Amino acid sequence: MNILVTGGAGYIGTHTLVELLNRGHGAVVIDNFTNSRPESLRRVREITGKSFALYAVDVCDEEALSRAFSENAIDCVIHFAGLKAVGESCERPLAYYRNNLDGMMSLLSAMGRHGVKKLVFSSSATVYRSDVPMPVDEDSPLGSINPYGWTKFMCEQMLRDVVAARPDWSVVLLRYFNPIGAHESGRIGEDPSGIPNNLMPFITQTALGRRPALRIFGNDYPTRDGTGVRDYIHVVDLALGHVAAIEYAEKNAGCEAFNLGTGQGYSVLDLVGAFERVNGVAVPCEIAPRRAGDPATVYSRVEKAEKMLGWRATRTLEEMCRDAWRWQVKNPNGFAE
Ligand code: NAD
Ligand code: UDP
Repeated sequence: MNILVTGGAGYIGTHTLVELLNRGHGAVVIDNFTNSRPESLRRVREITGKSFALYAVDVCDEEALSRAFSENAIDCVIHFAGLKAVGESCERPLAYYRNNLDGMMSLLSAMGRHGVKKLVFSSSATVYRSDVPMPVDEDSPLGSINPYGWTKFMCEQMLRDVVAARPDWSVVLLRYFNPIGAHESGRIGEDPSGIPNNLMPFITQTALGRRPALRIFGNDYPTRDGTGVRDYIHVVDLALGHVAAIEYAEKNAGCEAFNLGTGQGYSVLDLVGAFERVNGVAVPCEIAPRRAGDPATVYSRVEKAEKMLGWRATRTLEEMCRDAWRWQVKNPNGFAE
C-alpha cells in the first residue's frame, strides 16, 4: 500500500516508516518539524535504502494536505502529527486543541475529498480514566484529566462519528502505552527538546552525565516498591503494531480500538535497575514528591490486538534499555549534530 504518514519525522513516526518501507509499502511523509528535524528522515532513508516524498507542511493546512493527496495515489493514512506534552498542554490548552483537533479535521476533510477511507490514528492510554481497575481493556471507561488527553479523547469520538456516518470507512485507534527504546541500528531514537518529561530519556541523559540525578516522583504509591508502574513497550514493537493495523484496515471496515502494550507493568525502580544492569552504567537517583496527575499503576490487556491484528510485543525490558542507551551514546545531542 501507499501510506501517507503525518508526523513521520517524529519518534514513533520514523520507527514506523522503517518497518513500513522494509515491508515493501510506499510512504509519503507530512511534517512541519515543530518537534523534529529533517535529519531523522535522512536516517530513515539511510537505514532502509528507500526513498519517499516529503511535504514540509502543517496538517492544519487543508490545501497543502490536499496537494499531497492529489500528487500521490494514497491508499491509507497513519496520523501521528500532534503535540504530546501533558504539562505543556495544561499551560497552553488552546494551542493543543487547535493543533490536534484542527489537524484531525483538515485531514479527514482532505481524505474525504480524495476518496481515501482508511486511517490509523495515534491515540494513547491517557484516554482511559485513571481510576479503572488494571489491566485496562479496550472497553474500560474513557475520560481524561489534562488537555492533551482530552484532544485524544475528542479525536477518537470524531472518528467514531465519521465511521457511523460512512460505514465503508476503516479507522483503527491505537492506544499506546509507554513507548521507549530505539531502532537497534542506533541511528534513530527519541530526541526530546529541552529537559525530558518522560522517564527513559531522563534516565539516558542522567547516565550520560547531562543531568545530575533522576528524580523519582514518589516512592509511596500502593505498588510493589512504592514507585509508579507502567507498561513500557519497545518502539519497534509499536511500529510493527502499525504495520499490522494498516493490513487490518485494508480488509475490514468500521472503527476499532486496540491497546498497544506488553501487558506487563514495571516500576520506576525496575526500569532503572534493568538499565543499570544491562548497560553497566550508574543512574544516580533521588526521591522527589509525586508528580501531579500521575496514577500509581497503568498497564494493558493485550488480547484484542493479539486476536484481531495478529500482533504482540516481543521485545524485553532489557532490549528496551540496551537500545535506548545505544541511541543516546551514539547521538549525545540527538539529531542536532
Ligand atoms: P513526536 O513529537 O516525536 O512526533 C510528532 C511529529 O508530528 C513531530 O515530528 C512533529 O514535528 C509533527 N507535528 C506536530 N504537529 C504537526 C502539525 N500541525 N503538522 C505537521 N506535523 C506536525 O511524538 P511521538 O512520540 O512520535 O508521538 C506520535 C504520536 O503518538 C502523537 O500523536 C502522540 O500524541 C502519540 N502518542 C505518543 C506517545 C509517546 O509516549 N511518545 C504515547 C501515546 C501517544
Ligand atoms: N517518572 C519519574 N521521574 C521522571 C519522569 C517520570 O519518576 O523524571 C515516573 C512517573 O512518575 C511515572 C513513570 O516514571 O510513574 C513514567 O512516566 P512518563 O512521564 O515516562 O510516562 P507517563 O506514564 O506519565 O505518560
